[in-house]
Order: sequence, then structure tokens, then C-alpha cells
Amino acid sequence: MRVAIAGGTGFIGSALKEALLNRNDEVWIISRSHSQNEPKRPGLNRLTWDELEAAPSLLEGVNAIVNLSGESINQRWSTAAKQRVMDSRTTAAARVSKLMQSLKHKPPLVLNASGISAYGISADGSFDETSATNVTDFLSEVVQKWELAADSIPAERLVKLRVGVVLDKKEGAFPLMAMPYRLFGGGKIGSGKQWLSWIHLTDMTRMLLFILDNNDINGPINGCSPDPVTNDAFGRAIGKAMGRPHWFPVPAFVMRTLFGEMSTLLLDGQRALPRKAVEHGFTFRYPTVDSAMNELVGGR
Ligand code: NDP
Repeated sequence: MRVAIAGGTGFIGSALKEALLNRNDEVWIISRSHSQNEPKRPGLNRLTWDELEAAPSLLEGVNAIVNLSGESINQRWSTAAKQRVMDSRTTAAARVSKLMQSLKHKPPLVLNASGISAYGISADGSFDETSATNVTDFLSEVVQKWELAADSIPAERLVKLRVGVVLDKKEGAFPLMAMPYRLFGGGKIGSGKQWLSWIHLTDMTRMLLFILDNNDINGPINGCSPDPVTNDAFGRAIGKAMGRPHWFPVPAFVMRTLFGEMSTLLLDGQRALPRKAVEHGFTFRYPTVDSAMNELVGGR
């Protein structure tokens, strides 16, 4: 299989790239720039967006395009940063759309990243792919516009992967979430009742491959585990796996003072369920928060 990955240099994209190369698939990374001094590897090719726009036929014959591009949300949400978060996503989707229009032999699948923020912030709802989307805040507005931009992509199969919080030992949100526990200062954040719909990076990567390989999957699909938990339960699970206390609550106002609007990432959430993936036969290597924690904190 030949797969182009926009944003393939990032956290999830790098893991997908490795997984594809490991099974001898051919990978084309689409990036804003060429990284310096990168060794050549069999099966791995790189293109910048500009190179691709000058010669779209370079991707003639790929079987799928995966678009994971987007400015990181892990920064202070200044007006300029929020604009970059929004524009980087709508622009990347529009570029993929333009690329698809100019390809003679279009790949049947475009998989565009999205987020479970599509369902908006909710304290007591549960959301699967049959649920209505809802705009409640900045992130849900980003996702709404991102999915709208993706909808213009002319693909036989247009999959919108609504990614939950992706957990990994070294990268992404988990190392920061675990740090207070390492320092014996872990506890619930705000009310602790806010939902956290998470997925282990291994399962995120496996789900991406599953979608690439499964022609029946189309439209929105939730990329999260079947065991969403509250912030309080998540903290307890970290503490239990690490053998550290879960006792030091951080009030919401402290988070808001420290992180401004971005504090919503920890203070708010939604309970999303991977109904479509499960219905298509996907199984999770880390289906429960305890199984994920045991791996993430090194099996202690
Ligand atoms: P990363 O933050 O690792 O970024 C992905 C890639 O996007 C980068 O490698 C970069 O590629 C490109 N990028 C960064 N800034 C910009 C910009 N301003 N304009 C255009 N491209 C940019 O993302 P993840 O791998 O963590 O996530 C992939 C996608 O999934 C993202 O769109 C994210 O919103 C979504 N998602 C991720 C979650 C998570 O927990 N990680 C949770 C929910 C959604 P390059 O420099 O090569 O161009």
C-alpha cells in the first residue's frame, strides 16, 4: 500500500509512519519543510506542500491520504495562536481537497483527523458517531470548521477520525498529566467530574491501520477507547499504577489563572465511545484505563 501522510512528522503521524514502514508499505510524508540531515530509509519519501502543489502528479497512484496536520493546541491560547490553530487545520484540509481534484487517479480513501470536541463540552452526555455535533467552545468550533473543510474533499471514502486524548509514555499529554503524581502531588483537577475520552497511542496507530485496511469504514469515527473516565478516576488510575497518592486537588480557578482559556483542556471534556470501530470488529490492546496505565507507567 502507498500512503501519503500530511503531518506525518508529528506525534501520531510518526507512529503511523513507523507502523506502515514496518509492514513494508510505502510512505510519503507531506510536510511544511524538509528536515535537515535525515537519513534515507527504504520506502520513505518526503515532499513539502509547495513541492506537491507544483507537481501534484508526484502522488499519482497513492492508495490513501492521511491528513494529521495542525498547529499544536498545547500553547497559551492568545488570539494569534487560536487563529493559527484554526487556520492550519482548515487550510490543510483545503490543500488536500485541491490535491485530490488535480489527481487523475484519485486514491479511494482520505482520512482527515478531527477531534471528539466535535460533540462539544458535556458533563453528562455520551457520544458516538450517531450523536449530533455541537459547538460549545473554541475547540468545538475549530472541529466544526475543520470537518466542514474536509467535507469538500472529493474522496470515495472520506473518514473523519475524531481523535480523543492520545496517551503515550514520552509524548503528548500524558507525561505532563503524570508529573504531579511522580512528585507525590497528584489529585483531581477542578470538580474532577469532567470526562476524559482517551486512547493509547498503540491503539490509535492500530486503529489508523484498521481504517486504511477496512474499505467499509466511511464518515466520522471516534478514535477513543471504550473506557472513558472522569478526571478523578483517571488520576486515581495513575496513582494506583504508580503507587503514589491521589490526594492534592487543584481548584479550577488556579488552572484558569495559570493557563487561561487553555485550561478547558483539563477542566472540561466529553464522554465519547468508539461505537463504529467496535461494530467493524476493531479490538483494543488497551481497552481499560488500568491496562493503559500499567503500560504507561512502566508496568509497576
Ligand atoms: P502534532 O502537534 O504532533 O502536529 C502534527 C503536524 O502538524 C506537525 O508535525 C506539523 O507537520 C504540522 N503542523 C504543525 N503546525 C502547523 C501549522 N501551523 N500549519 C500547518 N501544519 C502544522 O499533532 P498530533 O500528531 O498530536 O495530532 C495529529 C492531529 O490529531 C492534529 O491535527 C490534532 O489536532 C489531532 N488530535 C490530536 C490529539 C492528541 O492527543 N494528540 C487529540 C485530538 C486531536 P510539519 O511540520 O511536518 O508540517
